[in-house]
Amino acid sequence: MQEEITEICLATRTSQLLSARRLIVKIGSAVVADIETGEVRGPWLETLIEDVVRFFARGQQVIIVTSGAVAVGSRHFKQLGRSLRIEEKQAAAAIGQIRLMLANEQSLKRHGFGLGQVLLARANVDDQRCRRNARSAFQQLLKVGAVPVINENDATATPETCLGDNDRLAARVAQIAEADVLILLSDVDGLFTEDPHDNPMARMIPQVSRITPEMETMASLSPARHGSGGMITKLMAARIAMEAGCNVVIAKGNKSYPLAALENGAPSKWFIPAAKETATWGVV
Ligand code: GLU
Repeated sequence: MQEEITEICLATRTSQLLSARRLIVKIGSAVVADIETGEVRGPWLETLIEDVVRFFARGQQVIIVTSGAVAVGSRHFKQLGRSLRIEEKQAAAAIGQIRLMLANEQSLKRHGFGLGQVLLARANVDDQRCRRNARSAFQQLLKVGAVPVINENDATATPETCLGDNDRLAARVAQIAEADVLILLSDVDGLFTEDPHDNPMARMIPQVSRITPEMETMASLSPARHGSGGMITKLMAARIAMEAGCNVVIAKGNKSYPLAALENGAPSKWFIPAAKETATWGVV
């Protein structure tokens, strides 16, 4: 695995972020929601939206993929004192989703932006006509200054029919939108030799240009603490996005202004595909 890994300098990272025409920012449940209280982390979200607005001000486009619907809605089922059944999770998602969107909308509105909610199911992203429709919706939303904010349609999803994690959903969105950069904001800032929550001596691996079986094994040993993702879904997402020529970044998102931090060199893991064409809204 050693020969796959090379350092990527801060200047390169910054230039990748600055030169991207279209970016997908995926927000994990543990980042956007206070897992204890089930509240949306409003003050943090304000700072993320400020970051996003800065990208738009530079002429870049941003599409947000947000998790957190189940995390935010679950508190209504707290009294059950057990993990939620499928139908309870679906209802929790329906309650949490609207709260997430309201919080995003309020923050965007302060900066003169609108919001367009797009809920996708696995069947949608697997279907070419639906992908085209989704892409047209993204284009039209961006044209009128409404930021597309996407989640899986969890209220009707079942384990057999869902994508299940927003890492892969975000990668599919990156494909559909022909994004140049996919940023996965979670509670870890990269790929580690061991789970950093268990072993503080765990070493982070910097840039990757090819995902190896060793990395997949390592990742599968680090499941998500909150939400449905984890290192393995991030690697799978990286594979999907890289195949579409999109750079992928895994970064810690829970501090204020996470995108500004990334530009200023906060620790992150970069997956850089071999070749990349400019984002053009071509055939999907
Ligand atoms: N779509 C789920 C939600 O909004 C999150 C899936 C994930 O954790 O990746 O709660």
